[in-house]
Amino acid sequence: MIRFRYVNIVTTGVLTLLIALPCRSQPLWDLAKENRDVLKISTLFTAQNVRDLLSSDEGIKSAIDWCKKTGVTHVFIESYRDGYTAERKTLEHARDRFKAEGFEVSGCVATTGIGKRSTGWQHISCYTDQPTQEQLQKIFEYTASIFDEIMIDDFLCTDCNCPDCEKARGQNSWADYRCELMVKMSREKILKAARKVNPNVKIIIKYPQWYDDFHNRGYDVVRQTADFDKIWVGTETRDYTDNHWGGKVQYEAYYIMRWLGGIGGTKTGGGWFDPYGTTENTYVEQARQTVLADAGEMLLFCYGSLLHETGPANVEKLRAEIPGLFKLAALVRNKPVKGVLAPKPPNSDAHDEQYVFDFVGMLGLPLVPAAEINTDAKTAFFAVHALKDPNFSDKLRKMLDAKKPILITDALAKRLNGISLMDENLMVLKVEGNPHGLLKLTREELKPIRDKLLGPFGIKFDSPNKVALYLVGETCLVVENFNDESIDASVEFTKAVKAKKTLILPTEGNVEFSCEGGKLTFTKITPRTLAAVEYQ
Ligand SMILES: [Zn+2]
Repeated sequence: MIRFRYVNIVTTGVLTLLIALPCRSQPLWDLAKENRDVLKISTLFTAQNVRDLLSSDEGIKSAIDWCKKTGVTHVFIESYRDGYTAERKTLEHARDRFKAEGFEVSGCVATTGIGKRSTGWQHISCYTDQPTQEQLQKIFEYTASIFDEIMIDDFLCTDCNCPDCEKARGQNSWADYRCELMVKMSREKILKAARKVNPNVKIIIKYPQWYDDFHNRGYDVVRQTADFDKIWVGTETRDYTDNHWGGKVQYEAYYIMRWLGGIGGTKTGGGWFDPYGTTENTYVEQARQTVLADAGEMLLFCYGSLLHETGPANVEKLRAEIPGLFKLAALVRNKPVKGVLAPKPPNSDAHDEQYVFDFVGMLGLPLVPAAEINTDAKTAFFAVHALKDPNFSDKLRKMLDAKKPILITDALAKRLNGISLMDENLMVLKVEGNPHGLLKLTREELKPIRDKLLGPFGIKFDSPNKVALYLVGETCLVVENFNDESIDASVEFTKAVKAKKTLILPTEGNVEFSCEGGKLTFTKITPRTLAAVEYQ
């Protein structure tokens, strides 16, 4: 009897397994559905992808299969890009097929190749031109008749200075004229026109990653964020050393996602990155930075590109990392970050300190990106951008009077009136008009800057350059090594803590971690590896 029972159990077990197999063949899809409220993964089919890859049932089937294997639960199906308009019946059929498979489905428009070309960048247009405005309106009317949500890719801008634009701007600066013009385009030719066709339509403005030039090309993050239903954020930092796409450091994705997240509040959708000029390692770093910055969604641009060149290897690496990214998202969700206030007022000029915040973040200073200068902050980093705030000098004096440690750039120091540079709490960072140069600072040079700025939090941080520190809420911190070599780092609290390592990314990464008294030691953090620690 005993033997018989034993056999029976085994047989039943095998049978159960066989029956369950077809349902369990997409574990990432199931996991993604379970976690979509923590972190949603989406992709985009450009208008050309719609034509080339979604016109047949086999094409749609492969796309659905790819999405499920990648944990994608939300798809954006684009109607227009580069002068090409996807066909209505193809768009509607794809929309309905994805919906039937349990996907969330939205539309998208890339405002490229419309009407009269800009005198500058060839992809974008001259919106002073009336027929161009009419064409813009038609594209959104068409798209709103098919989709209830429309994302606008980050080409909704202009750098045209043709005679018509020159005449129309009159005495205004180019930045003021272009912001005014694009706000008007958004309100009248996009939002009003689309809502007339579809009163339920929600429209998302996706901001590019080049935040220091927004106002110069007509992106007005304050007025446009107020006008649109949602915002989205470009977090495509790619490879710093890539000849064509390079020059962006990883921390930029984090800085801009947090900065715009603060401006957008509950309107903030997610971050968007792509495979161009990346390797597997830098591709997934974009995902980590987007998630660390508390994005509720990450969009993988775009299906067509991810099938070629570096795409497949990138996607393979990302798929392996997705379970960890869900954990990371849960660790940071809605928790305020602690650290050095790093404000960029909207529409502020960067002069020769473009994107300096990204580089300062790479120095292991945990930044709190912000649009406003709140003098309640315990410590701050100010660049020339701060001068956009008319009360900046008073605010700086108030913080120095309160004995708060402050780091300012050399260019800002030169422009300050009535502030003594001899104040013992004021440090000047030598940027010398070249933020990239900051990546050469040594561990020894960084130590006094970090110690002083982290003093108010009772923390000391020690590591080489290009290792970022994130202080998430009161019980979590993250250290990320962006170097191609293994490194050692430590975080020292003034009080004793109990800490445990809770997440390492990538899965094959390694960190030897110990906690003794108040000292957290990270030994041999493998290259391009993130370690999250929870402590009490
Ligand atoms: Zn023009």
